[in-house]
Amino acid sequence: MNTPQKPSSFAKIGLNIQDLREKIPESIKIVAVSKTRTRAEILEAYENGLTDFGENYLQEAIPKIESLSNYPLVWHFIGAIQANKTAEIAKYFSWVHAISREKIARRLNEARASTLAPLNVCLQINISEETSKSGLAPDLKSILKLATLIEQMPRLRLRGLMAIPHEETQEHQARLTFKKLSTLFHDLQKEGFELDTLSMGMSEDFKWAIAEGSTCVRLGTAIFGPRN
Ligand SMILES: *Cc1c(COP(=O)(O)O)cnc(C)c1O
Repeated sequence: MNTPQKPSSFAKIGLNIQDLREKIPESIKIVAVSKTRTRAEILEAYENGLTDFGENYLQEAIPKIESLSNYPLVWHFIGAIQANKTAEIAKYFSWVHAISREKIARRLNEARASTLAPLNVCLQINISEETSKSGLAPDLKSILKLATLIEQMPRLRLRGLMAIPHEETQEHQARLTFKKLSTLFHDLQKEGFELDTLSMGMSEDFKWAIAEGSTCVRLGTAIFGPRN
């Protein structure tokens, strides 16, 4: 018999997911970061049980989302958001992780069709306070201000906080940073916001993020292998 062989990189995706499943509790959402990955790689991850996929670049994402529209996939926009892209983001995605400006939130709210469920959003916090990175300063007052405005937008549903911390190789330092985001998340909950999503942790540091309370890890390399 001549059984077609899958390329080895594909076999690896299934094994990687099995391995991650053993390390990551069931209650934690895995967003498979599929930027630069093909439709076939995404399908392989889906067939191995993943349903949530994250994309950073709209032009790259749209053809993939359209070509996979027959599958029950949940798409997360995890990249930086340009104001002129909000209509398309509101059309194609269920989640937006990196909101840090009122203007962007307003435009997404206006663009989200009433035939779709409200768009799930997280506020991006510049937790390492790097000048090069976008996100709100890790200051409760400014976070509360934007969170309060978003709560009044009917087509958005505020779900939580997200951060892309400065890469740390030391567990102690990485965990301190994740703990800072976790504390802000709990402070917002104490202020009455019903949040359930703490989006932190990537391939290199997800274990430490989970130890500090992450509910949603965004994994690219750990699932699909190194990016070109
Ligand atoms: C690329 C990317 C990831 C995934 O990175 P890996 O190190 O490959 O896991 C997660 N979050 C964001 C915002 C990204 O841009």
